[in-house]
Amino acid sequence: MTIPFLDLQAQYRAIKSEIDGAIAAVIADCAFINGYYANTFETEFAAYQQTAHCVGVGNGTDALEIILEALDLPTGSEIIIPANTFIATSEAVARAGHTVVFCDCEPLTYTISVASARKRITGKTRAIIPVHLYGQPCDMDGLAALADEFGLKIIEDCAQAHGAEYHGKRVGTFGVAGTFSFYPGKNLGAYGDAGAIVTNSKELAIQCRMIANHGRTAKYDHQFEGRNSRMDGIQAAILSVKLRHLDAWTEARREVAARYRTLFEDSSIALPEEREMARHVYHLFVVQVDEREAVQEYLKKNSIETGIHYPIPLPMLAAYRHLGHTMADFPMLASSVNRIISLPIYPELSEDHIVTIAKTLSKAIGGL
Ligand SMILES: *Cc1c(COP(=O)(O)O)cnc(C)c1O
Repeated sequence: MTIPFLDLQAQYRAIKSEIDGAIAAVIADCAFINGYYANTFETEFAAYQQTAHCVGVGNGTDALEIILEALDLPTGSEIIIPANTFIATSEAVARAGHTVVFCDCEPLTYTISVASARKRITGKTRAIIPVHLYGQPCDMDGLAALADEFGLKIIEDCAQAHGAEYHGKRVGTFGVAGTFSFYPGKNLGAYGDAGAIVTNSKELAIQCRMIANHGRTAKYDHQFEGRNSRMDGIQAAILSVKLRHLDAWTEARREVAARYRTLFEDSSIALPEEREMARHVYHLFVVQVDEREAVQEYLKKNSIETGIHYPIPLPMLAAYRHLGHTMADFPMLASSVNRIISLPIYPELSEDHIVTIAKTLSKAIGGL
């Protein structure tokens, strides 16, 4: 039997009646776009995040693009982002009319390196987008100090970090705004695309809401040209159901991570570092091994699915060839990119499966 990398069906089976009921209610009410269910989820998620405002949008990429547009930075501003992230982060910067500046990451948390970000600051830098990658909060103390020193805005990409905390405070609340994705595979996932922006600024919330809804507040009162990126009612109702389970799921993920740590204690596998003052929510459990391709192949042969996040660093993609980077510009990322492998981690992963994964991986390493 295959151990999948992620098992969304198992999660659905566990909460089927709640989900089916929520979907049926939206259909009965025909509250398909914005409306009651979207507003309810926004209120609940703002409360969960302890932020004043939550604006539901179409997806996590749009959330980033919309908040960047709402900030109204000078066109062509340089915005620093980590090279180790999903392309959505850099896409949003470029789509919003700004210049992407990649920096390096820390070796074992894999999150943005404050020292590297500092080196990339120029007179045109206006913002930094830290990504709480794999569910691990970034060094927000270091970033806040850097942002203060240079007058930069911080927008947190929380797409992989629902419920993560730093000094006991939710990620997404340290900068001007935080953005979330509710893509199905995320820790809090819809049954389609959805996203949100959280902020304590009423002005930014209003502006984001207008941009996401054709530049209007009332039906045909368009103040400017916006776009169409709203949360749909079915996704919102599903997210409201799942939000009630999120903390229990996060605890279950953290327990899986703790089991892996115990099982790999004496091995040559490099485990992810957990920042001391942070609550890591383990969207992914990324380890480093020698001969990664052979290890992954061995696991696959033994019916264990794994992932690589990410196989090609953004600056090396064809999309960013024009920036002229080589991996020498990102020495820390260069040292791990060919060694990382993401192991299955999700609340439904059983003890039997965890042990099987650990045994098989140890065998793979021992046999090489
Ligand atoms: C998933 C993800 C996004 C984009 O979210 P979508 O909802 O798929 O648009 C942005 N940033 C990071 C780091 C992500 O993992």
